[in-house]
Amino acid sequence: MSTFVLTAAIDDRAGIGKVASRIGIECDAYAFTAQDNLKEIIEKEHHQQQQHCILIDEAQFLSKEQVKQLTYVVDCLSIPVLCYGIKTDFQGELFPGSHYLLAWADKLVELKTICHCGRKANMILRLDSKGEPVREGAQVEIGGNDSYESVCRKHFRALIWDKIEDEHHV
Ligand SMILES: [Zn+2]
Repeated sequence: MSTFVLTAAIDDRAGIGKVASRIGIECDAYAFTAQDNLKEIIEKEHHQQQQHCILIDEAQFLSKEQVKQLTYVVDCLSIPVLCYGIKTDFQGELFPGSHYLLAWADKLVELKTICHCGRKANMILRLDSKGEPVREGAQVEIGGNDSYESVCRKHFRALIWDKIEDEHHV
C-alpha cells in the first residue's frame, strides 16, 4: 500500500521533510507550510501514483482551511487521512489545526502520556534553556532552545495558571 506522508515545515520553506518514530524508523515526508493547498498537493500525488492513505504529522500546525481540504480528500477522493499532533499549546489553548480536527474528524484517538507524578498528562509545558516554565510568548517558537514536557493539569495549574493569577494580583 502506498502512503503519502506530510509533516509541518519548521520554517517557511516547503519541500522535503522527515518523519521519525521513537523506535528509530523514519521516512521522507512532504513538508507543508500554511500557504499550501493540501487538496491540490494530495490530488497531484494521487494522480502520479495511487495513494491508499495520507499520514500527517505535526497536525496541530494545519490551518482551518487545510483541515477542510483534508475532509475533501476523505469524502471526495475516498482516501483515509490520519493526523497526528498535540491538542494544546504551552498556555493550554487549542492549536488551530487541533481545533478543527477535534471538530470535524470522524474518529479521535487519545494517546495517553503520564506526568512525573503519575497522573494523566493532558497539558504541555514549554521550558526555557534553564528549564523554567514559559508563561508568555508566541504559540510557535521557531529556532529557540525551548523544550517541552507533558504534565498533568494539577502541575500545569501550579506552574502556569496560579503564577499568572499571582502576577495579575500584584
Ligand atoms: Zn503531575
